[in-house]
Amino acid sequence: GCGICVKKCPTQAIMIIGLPDKLAGQLTHRYGGNGFALYGLPVPSRGRVSGILGVNGIGKTTAVKILSGQIMPNLGKSDTTWEDVYKFFAGSELQDYMRRVSKKEMKTAQKPQYIDLIPKAFKGKVIDLLRKTDERKIFDEVVKELDLGVILDRDISGLSGGELQRVAIAACAMREADFYFFDEVTPYLDIFQRIRMARMIKRMGEDKNIMVVEHDLAILDLLADVVHVAYGEPGGYGVITHPKGVRVGINEYLRGYLPEENIRIRPTPIEFEVKAPRPQKEVQALTAFPALTKTLGTFRLDVKGGELRKREVVGVVGPNGIGKSTFARLLAGELKPDKGELDFKVKISYKPQYVKADTEMSVGALLGSINKKFDTSYYNSEILVPMQIQRLMDCNVNELSGGELQRVAIAACLGKDADMFILDEPSAHLDVEQRTMATKVIKRFAENNDVTMLVIDHDIYMIDLLSDRLLVFDGEPGVSGEVHGPFEMREGMNRFLSNLDITFRRDEETRRPRVNKPESNLDREQKSIGEYYYMP
Ligand code: ADP
Ligand code: ADP
Repeated sequence: GCGICVKKCPTQAIMIIGLPDKLAGQLTHRYGGNGFALYGLPVPSRGRVSGILGVNGIGKTTAVKILSGQIMPNLGKSDTTWEDVYKFFAGSELQDYMRRVSKKEMKTAQKPQYIDLIPKAFKGKVIDLLRKTDERKIFDEVVKELDLGVILDRDISGLSGGELQRVAIAACAMREADFYFFDEVTPYLDIFQRIRMARMIKRMGEDKNIMVVEHDLAILDLLADVVHVAYGEPGGYGVITHPKGVRVGINEYLRGYLPEENIRIRPTPIEFEVKAPRPQKEVQALTAFPALTKTLGTFRLDVKGGELRKREVVGVVGPNGIGKSTFARLLAGELKPDKGELDFKVKISYKPQYVKADTEMSVGALLGSINKKFDTSYYNSEILVPMQIQRLMDCNVNELSGGELQRVAIAACLGKDADMFILDEPSAHLDVEQRTMATKVIKRFAENNDVTMLVIDHDIYMIDLLSDRLLVFDGEPGVSGEVHGPFEMREGMNRFLSNLDITFRRDEETRRPRVNKPESNLDREQKSIGEYYYMP
């Protein structure tokens, strides 16, 4: 363990100083005699969006199953009745709510965490699925808001992850329900789509009862009115706090300390740079890429030449459909440019955006087949332990959850013998702690191995924490894309965010970035001086 906890935590990412005594009377549910225990419960409330913020395996899904009537909370006993449950929640908002749940009066609509199951459950066109689920008669509005017009006639089975994610969110929003639950809304969406989606759900929350689990904190910040922090010991027990204002809740979470509960959930805070980091000196070039063009169908990519350095992490930003994967595939030698020549002597290892699990191999066997050194202490302490992969070693790859698969795919990519590593959306399905850990692993790996990392991601917190420089894509999605840079952070962020017309202010306490309201004073002021992200 890390030496501070009383309890031994399996992940070392989270530490808890014992189970507070005062929780004893708050046991909401326990699986079996000695299984996972959930303390507390989020309070659904009409007219606000409630977020749940916490690591995976801490009981968020269990809480939602209770709120949607899929399981009756057993209060840790085998003979619990609904009468006991009413008594348990007496005097709280949950009493009346649970009464209605028990009478099956609460209808729930859910956006599942893993959307790849949707094409298996539903065959046909997008328009047919959405027409069928449109109980609220808001089809036109939602299609416009989520920009689904161009894919209405497409077959569900042929959609990209980002398209499928938006269809799934639309289908959930269109249902008539008493309780809406969105389990992770950002994977595979670009930042512009994330912000539009967040604003739509927030508006919907004005007269609906909505709960969201989300790990992209800049988006959770926009989306939720209140957050419940979930803490505990993954797989052992979880505690759901009372609702906190969204700003305070996220700040406490980043700090790693919950003052009201007097609980430390992480040894060190997660911190952001307010001023743009200074350009590095004494850098060694890894490789230069020349001007290139590539046409795929009706899409054309133009690459201005650039240079990549050893030991650096380059964040790659830009909307979906702008040619980021195409660029990665050009670098990886999978595609040949139409114009320009890449005579790369650098070896590339690439993790694609959509990770497929099509092998029955165990995780250990898979990693071993990539790199014999995976059982050395270096890989163990630098990758397997921080990425929480050790306890997955005997699992079959095709039985992993999305977040587990993502972590294995990152480790597999880093295990290959290469000079350049390209990771496409490593944040997808990772919780905040896992994103922070992955960030550290990636940075250290670049430094210790004299290699270059290109990381494509849409979580602005992760891009900020990870990147030394930025490669910026702009153009017209699906039609044409241009690649500029790499730029130093300030210039890159300004270029990227001015394309999107989005500015960030800094939180007074934690200095974390927060999206400005369009046309607010700060938004106008920052745009007028051209500072979209960092303070001058
Ligand atoms: P989260 O949504 O935060 O990832 P879950 O609520 O899905 O967490 O799970 C919390 C813990 O409860 C996990 O350790 C999981 O293994 C355990 N668990 C979930 N469902 C069951 C079940 N039906 N029986 C026994 N244990 C379960
Ligand atoms: P990003 O990674 O930025 O989301 P991509 O590089 O995947 O973007 O795609 C850019 C555009 O090129 C998209 O409009 C995509 O549909 C199109 N495209 C990609 N591959 C092909 C192909 N093999 N044939 C035709 N069009 C393609």
